[in-house]
Amino acid sequence: MPAGSDPHPRLADIEEARARVARFALRTPLVPSALTRAGGPDILLKLEILQPTGSFKIRGASNAILALSEERRARGVVCCSTGNHGRAVAHVARSLGIPAVVCLSSLVPGGKVEGVRAAGADIRRIGSSQDEAQAEAERLAGAEGLTLIPPFDHPDVIAGQGTIALELLEERPDLAAVVVPLSGGGLIAGIALAAKAIRPGIRIVGVSMERGAAMAASLRAGRPVEVAEEASLADSLGGGIGLANRWTFRLCRDLVDEVVLLTEDEIYAGMRTMFFEERLIAEGASAVGHAALLGGRFRPAGPTALVLSGRNVDMRQFAAIAAGDPIRNVGGPSPQTSGSTLGSGRNG
Ligand SMILES: *Cc1c(COP(=O)(O)O)cnc(C)c1O
Repeated sequence: MPAGSDPHPRLADIEEARARVARFALRTPLVPSALTRAGGPDILLKLEILQPTGSFKIRGASNAILALSEERRARGVVCCSTGNHGRAVAHVARSLGIPAVVCLSSLVPGGKVEGVRAAGADIRRIGSSQDEAQAEAERLAGAEGLTLIPPFDHPDVIAGQGTIALELLEERPDLAAVVVPLSGGGLIAGIALAAKAIRPGIRIVGVSMERGAAMAASLRAGRPVEVAEEASLADSLGGGIGLANRWTFRLCRDLVDEVVLLTEDEIYAGMRTMFFEERLIAEGASAVGHAALLGGRFRPAGPTALVLSGRNVDMRQFAAIAAGDPIRNVGGPSPQTSGSTLGSGRNG
């Protein structure tokens, strides 16, 4: 079978995932955004920041772990993570009484490492990139007989994240667009699969940071490519998509309508808007939808939902941003240029 032709999840798989995910994840509220303008389309916020473990990752992690046989569960699970997936895997594993090992690179912020530790996982700090953490997770899976729970490129993970779209369209069947933070693409692939199956004309917009946007670079190249991983305010969006990517690259190529890339300054502004206008605390990855709207990089043509994906931000960093202070520990001065808006991979 040629690479990339593995069957991907269908709407029925995502509907099935819903029952499993409900054991661990909330049905999160969809609330009006302060960015809704008089006479303009409704802008709505899907509050995945309220999930136990602080991010939507609990959906994919719980679906994937609950799909394992009793025997494989008993042997334990392993994953690599930029922080939130590891915390979700650790939380689910502990609840089910199974061992979990989480591999984290040195780029993962201390607060996120503590979150994973507090959720009860055995932590391995390894390497200086998500790709190195990934290699160690794969090695451990082979050497110790643990089951690998990938952070995005896995049908059960994608199906779990897709349950967000079922909730969105039940509440607002008239949605014109969903704006989704994009890294490895499990979140956007799941949402796009379910949303387009239910409402074919809906627009799915991915937002990443300019620094190390592996999926955007891969869509441009027409195949999975590597990019250098750099520190970013949107730390949860770091890491590659894997040169041997099996599902999310193809799904993003086929289903994502538009990818917007943001500068660090824009993400910073998005986080301030999150605080001062929405009065919410969320991590940089959650603020990319706000940043895209504020910067005019995405113009809503109808009711639009922004997925606020996680809240696991370092509170000292968030307080500094709210105060308008410069942030130095995320890779120096921000890139000089305004970002670019890419078409989907199809149009180059
Ligand atoms: C993982 C994560 C994302 C990106 O999800 P992908 O499936 O890798 O695209 C976005 N926001 C937060 C908070 C995350 O933890």
